Amino acid sequence: MYGQMMQMPLLISSLIVHAERHHPEREVVSRRVEGDIHRTTYKQLAQRARQVAQALAALDVKPGDRVATLAWNGYRHMELYFGVSGSGAVLHTLNPRLHPDQVVYIADHAEDQVLCFDMSFWPLIQAVAGRTRTIRHWVAMTDRAHMPPPDQAAKVPGLLCYEDLLALQNGRYEWPSFDENTASSLCYTSGTTGNPKGVLYSHRSTMLHTFAAALPDCLGVGATDAVLPVVPMFHVNAWGLIYLAPMVGAKLVLPGAGLDGKSLYELLEGEGVTVSAGVPTVWQGLLAYVDAGGLKFSTMRKSAIGGSACPPAMIKKFLDQYDVHVIHAWGMTEMSPIGTAAAFKAQHIEQSPEQRLAVMATQGRAVYGVDMKIVDPNGADLPWDGQASGDLHVRGPWIIERYFKGEGGDPLQNGWFPTGDVARITPEGYMAITDRSKDVIKSGGEWIGSIDLENIAMAHPAVAMAACIAAKHPKWDERPLLVVMKKPGVEVTREDILAFFEGKIAKWWTPDDVVFVDSIPLGATGKMQKIKLREQFKAYKLPTA
Ligand code: ADP
Repeated sequence: MYGQMMQMPLLISSLIVHAERHHPEREVVSRRVEGDIHRTTYKQLAQRARQVAQALAALDVKPGDRVATLAWNGYRHMELYFGVSGSGAVLHTLNPRLHPDQVVYIADHAEDQVLCFDMSFWPLIQAVAGRTRTIRHWVAMTDRAHMPPPDQAAKVPGLLCYEDLLALQNGRYEWPSFDENTASSLCYTSGTTGNPKGVLYSHRSTMLHTFAAALPDCLGVGATDAVLPVVPMFHVNAWGLIYLAPMVGAKLVLPGAGLDGKSLYELLEGEGVTVSAGVPTVWQGLLAYVDAGGLKFSTMRKSAIGGSACPPAMIKKFLDQYDVHVIHAWGMTEMSPIGTAAAFKAQHIEQSPEQRLAVMATQGRAVYGVDMKIVDPNGADLPWDGQASGDLHVRGPWIIERYFKGEGGDPLQNGWFPTGDVARITPEGYMAITDRSKDVIKSGGEWIGSIDLENIAMAHPAVAMAACIAAKHPKWDERPLLVVMKKPGVEVTREDILAFFEGKIAKWWTPDDVVFVDSIPLGATGKMQKIKLREQFKAYKLPTA
């Protein structure tokens, strides 16, 4: 017997329809590449998203066609999020921090038909325009006055102006209804090993992920909040916040290219931001700025941090010095991205600050909808005892089944997706990533988790950033080498740093050596590139060797 409730497909367009009807005057504020602060509302944004849908039809974009973006977080990008997916086409958010060759590879692989870009990426557009195979139109996301001069424009055949395209449309457009399993958007993994692979989300997976992300123990955002996603809209859909904000009627504050401490702080304070989200490296810049100026956060109450391990020292600083609660979250492109969030359970309420910090420092417990387990090399389940660590596998309705165009074969193992992360899980269900499997340090047949070592190092007051990598060792095969970037103007020695590990970990986990570097290479999504460091130090001779 079937239930007798309405069959309404879960479609992304319904989010902006809802926001227009129920939160029409709620603001979307953007720092534009033109330099100013732009203000709009969900009502106006919904109108312009419909104009986008009409403009795409006028460009002969068909359902299923890929429309790419190379853009910062801003209202025009958001209009494309809804206009493209809502009309049945597929939004493909390209990462502008990639090398032009990679952009060409990905755009060709995705068979993008249209590419919409912020003018700050005009040099990149000129570098790739003659080389892609399928792009018919290049749309500059600006007005006529800010278009490139004619001599430059002539170098990009098919160049169009976004505001001109919208001006031709009246916005009288009905969002189409279709199967909720239809593809909505496409993101490529960063391809640190091998070619990038496409992850194709559906309307259904996106909507279910949005509901879950909004839950109080996940990102926990409501109509009275003002949300600032520092995480780029080209990095796994800004962790769903572009969908979540209109769903709940939150104000949205979009930082554009201004990701330095000062620009972020001004927006956070100026717009009364209550919740923000980003990777640890951007918060380092912000905290350095706030520290230096003796400033405070007057409205921010919560910051979601993930994408790479958030050092406990950062969680503690946010809480003790700035009264900002950190929600440490974990996920990946293949998971839309959210998998776990480190929210408390009832038993933690009365615990000591140290015990609570230990909970907050884990990557968190599974959000409803995500199932997880850790397994040994033979695929057998490992216990959740907080000790055993193994390969982390996940499954759920917003987790990948296969890569775009079947790339890489079947990624699943017995219906579970192997994340490539190594983790342990406590009896209470809190998961802690110890490493990515390719970063694990194998010392005498045992594994040393580099993230634990980095977290300790980053609590040292003189350390700005630290990466722990495997260095070759004649007896133990591999031993940890700690690569440290110091804070400016401070002095610290190798011995100081090594002494800092005493009593915090098993002695044999202590790094064998410390090297100081001017900078640690970061990838396109703000993560430490250990591959590059391993390359740099591949001939390094440890003093213990
Ligand atoms: P890529 O880094 O390849 O661009 P993703 O952005 O999808 O891909 O990153 C996913 C990976 O980032 C995870 O598999 C995990 O290794 C790492 N990661 C994400 N969040 C966290 C976290 N809170 N702590 C530790 N690692 C994390």
